Amino acid sequence: MSELTDRFLRYARMDTASDSSSSTSPSSARQVEFLRMLENELRELGLDDIELDEKGTLYASLPGGGSGDTVIGLLAHVDTSPEAPGENVNPVVHRSWDGNPVELCEGVVIRPSETVDMLRYVGDTIITSDGRTLLGADDKAGVAIIMEILDTLIHNRNIQVPPLRIAFTTDEEVGRGMDNFDPERFGADFAYTVDGGSVGKVDTQTFNAWSANWKVKGREVHPGSAKGIMVNAVRVLADIVSSILPEEMPENSSGDEGYYYPLSISSVTSEGNLKMILRDFTSEGMKSRIETMRSLEKWIQARYPGAEISLEMLEQYSNPGEILEQDRRAVEFALQATGKVGLEPEESSIRGGTDGSRLSFMGIPTVNLPTGGELFHSRNEWIAEKGLELSYRIVLETLRIWGTQ
Ligand SMILES: [Zn+2]
Repeated sequence: MSELTDRFLRYARMDTASDSSSSTSPSSARQVEFLRMLENELRELGLDDIELDEKGTLYASLPGGGSGDTVIGLLAHVDTSPEAPGENVNPVVHRSWDGNPVELCEGVVIRPSETVDMLRYVGDTIITSDGRTLLGADDKAGVAIIMEILDTLIHNRNIQVPPLRIAFTTDEEVGRGMDNFDPERFGADFAYTVDGGSVGKVDTQTFNAWSANWKVKGREVHPGSAKGIMVNAVRVLADIVSSILPEEMPENSSGDEGYYYPLSISSVTSEGNLKMILRDFTSEGMKSRIETMRSLEKWIQARYPGAEISLEMLEQYSNPGEILEQDRRAVEFALQATGKVGLEPEESSIRGGTDGSRLSFMGIPTVNLPTGGELFHSRNEWIAEKGLELSYRIVLETLRIWGTQ
């Protein structure tokens, strides 16, 4: 097995799940343990400016060997998703995979028909968890790729790359990855997150993302004498959800379609709360979704005059596509690098967000590169050794192209 794979397996075994219920930064102490380990490894390698700040971002630098002085950033997040168990991850290496469904314990089956491009790896090595946990290739694969590249560059000083800034961040999976990030301290001109899926793709578009938080106050009274008096918050909230067209829900959307997603609802007669998220690739599309929510608020208020209804909408992140259009180099070089390693490059959109979306709006245009992993946030998560290697080569080639500028 390659050193990169060994490194990935070693990192995958560490429990680094983030915790959405915690209000500390980072949200779990286990992320800091992993960051300390990485900090030591960076010191052993001999990186410069190594700093682990109190909020859980690990920064480091590597001087460039090339002629250019454009500073390039590389980022990966150390946390894994709290949506699937992340404790005692036991990676399983399936050598010479025959193309059949991969059966893990507790009835977990990874079917090639249900995952994008698994069949391109028939005959290769596939890595999964044992079925009890997620694997955590999202984003331990990204961390392993960046660490392995630093190792390669330190031991091969003839490889010409630009000056590099490295950041390992926390709490990406609970949407707080960039909350404590300091773009000035990072100091890159362009950056790459290594946090994508299948190889070949260069992610330049993400959703525009807003949250919509509905609060309803009703009026409680004994149901026996409720006529004309009771105002039931449960009914109000149910009406809001049922007024959204089924085709506008995530389970019926794909490609470049956006959606409204009612995430959670909790209510009694006297008061209730409905949390929703809104997603759309275009800013006009998002504008119209926000207007739809506002007219829904008016309609529902007119329907239930006795209810106190409030709707709070907040921006979560935006599509960095327009920013990346202003200077295409970060995108073009990644596409060229993808072609150089023998893949068909494809500029793609992710139906989600990345730390890069927010980083782009903080002034550092950021592109997302693949890791080779798929079915993230689940016990079906898998990564092919070849996909991991190709992702490593894409990042390295991208840096080499920057190094010749
Ligand atoms: Zn990720």
